[in-house]
Amino acid sequence: MPDSEFEIIKHYFSSRTWGGENIIVGIGDDAAVVSTPADMQLVVSIDTLISGVHFPSQTSAANIAGKALAVNLSDLAAMGATPVWFTLALSLPEPDHNWLAAFSESLADMAAVYGIALVGGDTTRGSLSITIQVAGHVPTGRALLRAGASPGDQIFVSGEIGDAALGLVALQQQIAASEDINYLLARLHRPQPRVELGQALAGLASACIDISDGLFADLSHILAASGVGARLTQEKIPLSDPAQRFLSRHPDLSAGVYNRGDDYELCFCVPKEKCSQLEAIKKQLPYRLTHIGEIVAGDELQLFDGKNTRVDFEKNNYDHFAGKI
Ligand code: ADP
Ligand code: MG
Repeated sequence: MPDSEFEIIKHYFSSRTWGGENIIVGIGDDAAVVSTPADMQLVVSIDTLISGVHFPSQTSAANIAGKALAVNLSDLAAMGATPVWFTLALSLPEPDHNWLAAFSESLADMAAVYGIALVGGDTTRGSLSITIQVAGHVPTGRALLRAGASPGDQIFVSGEIGDAALGLVALQQQIAASEDINYLLARLHRPQPRVELGQALAGLASACIDISDGLFADLSHILAASGVGARLTQEKIPLSDPAQRFLSRHPDLSAGVYNRGDDYELCFCVPKEKCSQLEAIKKQLPYRLTHIGEIVAGDELQLFDGKNTRVDFEKNNYDHFAGKI
């Protein structure tokens, strides 16, 4: 079994086939060499997952790898980019071979699904943390930004909101396993980045963001960047059937369910006259696209119930430094 840093890198990372186009030199030299086609721009993002902060410390190695890559791919999706390559900075308390085997296999499986190649990284001893940097391509000038929404644009979300947050509660409260709980846990541990949706929205959406911190919190970033406000209808925000059944048994957990984060769905705006183009996109997707509101003038995020009465809400999203600095 490999024990040195060099052996770990060789055994678990560089000996795997990572595929990918535009990779000239991958793992093994002092740095990777990649190319970018002349008509494309490079989109780059990085996210760190720390044990006990971004995932419960008992999370399996396979789920940690799946989530670490997924949250990064979700950022590329939000930009409308096609994933190309990634790097991995791994900090481990000890060379646990079962852990490394499961982690690297899960990482390679997910990378293959999205056609993204691991081209390098860093391996250190320390408390468990995983930093992944991803890069993708967009046709020049077509990246989806947070800025760009205008009054009258319609607001949509992909998939369903709140599953991961409810899965976390189920885990923390040790609620007995069932088909519904397993669904919510899968949504917590294995978010599915909406890469194909982001690609389809490039050139169509006026603004886009992925929902990591919470729907209201992340939509607020679009509003601030675009200099606009929004009206949302609470009843339109899509909840999955397992989430609805779970909440009917635990109604005390429904407050703030739309804004707890970890959804990794896309929230995006489309000019009214282009909304019919979404129909063709919807047909290609195995998940929903739901209209939840409209961009308006101003700077406020307003929430209404089905009877058009204003609803108060707290943007009680997750913030690493809230109250600490
Ligand atoms: P250096 O000392 O020159 O920074 P390293 O010994 O850290 O080189 O890494 C050697 C090679 O292995 C480099 O190509 C680096 O990108 C790659 N590498 C190191 N750790 C990882 C990892 N966790 N995943 C993928 N590649 C890695
Ligand atoms: Mg070197």
